Amino acid sequence: MESRELDALVASVPRQLFIDGRWSDAASGSHLTTLNPATGRPLAEIAAAETADVERAVAAARRAFDDGRWTGLTPMQRSRILWRVGELIERDADQLALIETLDNGKPLSSAKKVDLPQAAQHFFYHSGWCTKLEGETMPVSWPRHLAYTLREPVGVVGQIIPWNYPLIMAARNLAPALACGNTVVLKPSEETPLTALWLARLLAEAGVPEGVVNVVPGYGRTAGAALAGHPDVDRLVFTGGVVTARDVVTASAGNFKRLTLELGGKAPFIVFADADMDAALQAAVRGGFGNQGQNCCAVTRLYLHKDIAREFREKLVAATERLKIGEGREEGVEFGPLISARHRDRVESYVGIARDEGAAVLTGGERPQADGFFLKPTVLAGVTDDARVSKEEIFGPVVATYDFDGPGEAIARANSSPYGLAASVWTQDLSLAHEVARRLRVGCVWTNCFSRFDAAAPWGGVKQSGYGTGIGRHAIEEYTQPKAVWIDTATGDAVRGLPAF
Ligand code: NAD
Repeated sequence: MESRELDALVASVPRQLFIDGRWSDAASGSHLTTLNPATGRPLAEIAAAETADVERAVAAARRAFDDGRWTGLTPMQRSRILWRVGELIERDADQLALIETLDNGKPLSSAKKVDLPQAAQHFFYHSGWCTKLEGETMPVSWPRHLAYTLREPVGVVGQIIPWNYPLIMAARNLAPALACGNTVVLKPSEETPLTALWLARLLAEAGVPEGVVNVVPGYGRTAGAALAGHPDVDRLVFTGGVVTARDVVTASAGNFKRLTLELGGKAPFIVFADADMDAALQAAVRGGFGNQGQNCCAVTRLYLHKDIAREFREKLVAATERLKIGEGREEGVEFGPLISARHRDRVESYVGIARDEGAAVLTGGERPQADGFFLKPTVLAGVTDDARVSKEEIFGPVVATYDFDGPGEAIARANSSPYGLAASVWTQDLSLAHEVARRLRVGCVWTNCFSRFDAAAPWGGVKQSGYGTGIGRHAIEEYTQPKAVWIDTATGDAVRGLPAF
């Protein structure tokens, strides 16, 4: 695409806050500038929400919830609107993928193959739930009573999302919340607000009524904190880091809003000696360095059985060095820049920490070029289990390798992390695979595969990876509240005096 066309595309993204179905500037006139991580240059200047704007957005969501403009539609009407959102995402997929690449830095091929289809899938899948929010009847021990539940939306939902998969994060949160009849205030990351703003326009086009979804990009300390602490937000879904999560949990105490926390990870990837080596190798490279390693489930701790460790490590280094690094729109690029200079510096500092702790840097660790926020994909060896790089989430392209002997040792070391989000196990031994999956303390285990996501499959962590489940049937539970209704069926004139049975 010519640079003039590209400028026109970026210029066509909404630049304002989306509140109550209308586009407006922040009350204070505040703006934020998003950068293109591949060049480090400004991409777009957009309105930055502050407390007053979040107040306005929550008030709009509250009105939209209370007056029933969303829940008052029939389940089938809501279902069709959400399905239509999925279709509109597909219609605009090329533009959205390009904007995602410019704003986030990820390879365009990944944006097209992963981000766009998954974002649409969340709307297609969750649209089906609108017509299936059933209550139940309970066999209570009170004679001649009928007790049943109504499954009701929780109300106004706040959603705070990160920058690594901006459109997927917006879609995977909005779709189930809306399917259940809630209204939403979504705060995208200040680093990557553009595709969420485009999505807001698509929601309106699909027929989501005014005020049902409000999108307020802004900084975490202002807009994010205002949403987390707002007394009229009934549920908050936070996806981000553990340090921020502590502030969010504290802020939520004001009105005891319910929380879903989708936090970081330190995924172990365990390769037994009988594994399909080529498949495991490919998955380790993709899992460690896809999205520049900026994944909550990225392969960060690669446990290799001692019989294959040496060969696997050599092949891993060779495959890592073959990755084509560059600007996401370039043909064949597999590895782009990190999100920001600050984040690149932080990730890079971990390579120094690893060296100081005695690790060997087998490849990577340095910046391949001056422009943009690039850092070469990095493989470490000789890392101890109690090293900082073994314990702390780096959230970048740094894979530490370790040797192990038997399954008990691999499981114990994999579990010796404060995080528990995802893990991957590679073996041809079915019994071993099941046993390891059962013993790992994580929310998701991929066996002989990696990074499988689907709107139908639950996603959530244990330990410091958070709590709650944001996707699929389990998310439906979280976005709804069962209300118990009791009826004494013996009180009407017509039935009074009839014998009980
Ligand atoms: P972050 O915690 O810095 O920010 C996340 C969001 O919180 C942003 O929108 C930010 O503006 C907002 N925020 C910042 N301070 C806030 C505050 N005081 N109150 C309220 N909101 C505030 O995280 P990040 O750097 O954007 O994302 C990286 C983290 O997200 C990593 O730890 C990663 O593992 C995690 N993550 C988890 C999942 C998952 O599904 N479990 C998915 C993606 C990313």
